[in-house]
Order: sequence, then structure tokens, then C-alpha cells
Amino acid sequence: MDFTGKRVIVTGAGKGIGRATALMLAARGAKVIALTRTAADLESLEKAIDCVAITVDLADPVATRAAALKALPADLLVNCAGTTELESFLDVSVANFDLLYAVNTRAPMIVAQEYARDIIRSGRKGAIVNVSSVAAFVGIPDHAAYCASKAGLDGLTRVMAKELAPQGIRVNGVHPTVTLTPMAVKAWSDPQKAASMLSRIPVGRFADPDDVAEVILFLLSDEAAMVNGLSMPVDGGYMIA
Ligand code: NDP
Repeated sequence: MDFTGKRVIVTGAGKGIGRATALMLAARGAKVIALTRTAADLESLEKAIDCVAITVDLADPVATRAAALKALPADLLVNCAGTTELESFLDVSVANFDLLYAVNTRAPMIVAQEYARDIIRSGRKGAIVNVSSVAAFVGIPDHAAYCASKAGLDGLTRVMAKELAPQGIRVNGVHPTVTLTPMAVKAWSDPQKAASMLSRIPVGRFADPDDVAEVILFLLSDEAAMVNGLSMPVDGGYMIA
């Protein structure tokens, strides 16, 4: 897959899967436009690759729209930024529910709206990958707000795929299992919980960020020209176990 000359927006490019995706895209010729919150992450990314760095808190809808507009024009979009808070269902606070919804569901919508409007206006073709999670398919204890936010994102992905494909933009979702990133440290550092999750993954390991990035790049690429509206697990078989 060659992305030479393509401008690709990657949200959450500071750490984890987003960063791996940004590095892989750059290695395959793309110019990455990186949107994330921590300025130090962007500084180190700029040292690693030639990219456009935009600092933004994606929980803020006005700032998110401004950052999306600043990122244009772009050929492709990866909505990867995400966040989590661990709380049992009975303890989920409204503040955390709203935060996860804002970052995991609403921000991808806002960025995709501005990206898609620009692609359609200019008569080009494009592709969007929304990074969801296996948590959109199954109920994971202590992840109520996260599961809801990712299932909401999947709803958006499906509607976007139907409405935008006739206008030249394919939209797909990627659903990783536990992936070895800073977020996974937060959610899965309890060895008992991790062992129980691992025992349900037939390939016998958690994902590496590059495992997920490869699938994202495939779905962005012209090789996936007939793939639209897919929810693609990257889970080593967790969903069939
Ligand atoms: P990380 O926490 O490692 O990285 C997330 C990135 O998103 C960081 O750069 C972070 O910046 C950025 N981000 C988070 N909140 C905001 C915000 N409010 N504004 C701007 N940027 C923000 O997560 P992963 O790489 O693990 O996760 C990437 C995606 O994959 C997420 O959507 C996640 O839900 C999903 N996923 C992850 C799994 C895993 O096990 N790791 C499993 C399934 C799905 P900062 O650090 O500055 O906040």
C-alpha cells in the first residue's frame, strides 16, 4: 500500500494506535496531519516524521471543529483518539459518561463532517476509518460508558457509510481487542482481568499497535475500494471464541 502524496488526518496521533498509524502512513509516503491533546507528543512526532501538528482537546466541540477545518484539505481520515474511565455501571458518573461520549463519539462526527464536506465540495474521493473497539460488540464490566460510546460510534459509521459512499467516501470501523498502549495499561493492568481476557483470544496474545495500524491502512487504501460500512475486528478471534 502506497500513500505517496496523500494527506491523512490522524486524531490521537500522540500515543498508542494513532501514533503507530501516523508512523506507518509516513513510512508509506503520506503526509500526516496529527491532531491530539498533548503538545509534547506532537513535538516528538514532528521529530520522527514530517507532519502537520495540531493541538486540540477533542472534548471541546468548538475547538474540535476549528482544528478539523485547520487540518484541511485532506485525502483520508483516521478517527483514532479515544479515552476511557473505569467504573461499574452503578457508579458511572454523568460527567464521565459525557466526557467519553464527547471524545469517542461526538468528536469523530465533527471531524468527519468537516473532512467530508471538503471532499464533496472539491469533487474528490476519500475514505474514513473510525477506530472503535470490541467493546462495541460485548458488555465488558467496568466499561459501561466506554461500551456505549463505541457502540454509538458504530451507529455513526453505518449511517456515514450509507450517506457518504454515493458521494465518493468509504467509511469503515476497526475494532481492536486489548492493544498494548497507554490506554491498555490503564484498563488492563490487573493481572486477573488481563488473564481472563487473554484466555478468550485464540491467537494467544494481545494486539500490538502495528497490528491495528496495518488494518487501518488497508481500509484506507484503494485496495479496499469495495469495502464500505464494515466493522472489522482486530481481535485474534476473540469475537468467535
Ligand atoms: P492511548 O491512550 O494510548 O492514545 C490515545 C490518544 O488519543 C492519545 O494521543 C491521546 O492524547 C488522544 N486523546 C485522548 N483524549 C483526547 C482528547 N480529549 N483530545 C485530544 N486527544 C485525545 O489509546 P490507544 O492508542 O490505546 O487507543 C486508540 C483508539 O483505539 C481509541 O479510540 C481506543 O478507544 C481504541 N481502542 C484501544 C484499545 C486498547 O486496548 N488499547 C482496544 C480497543 C480500542 P493524550 O494522551 O494527550 O490525552
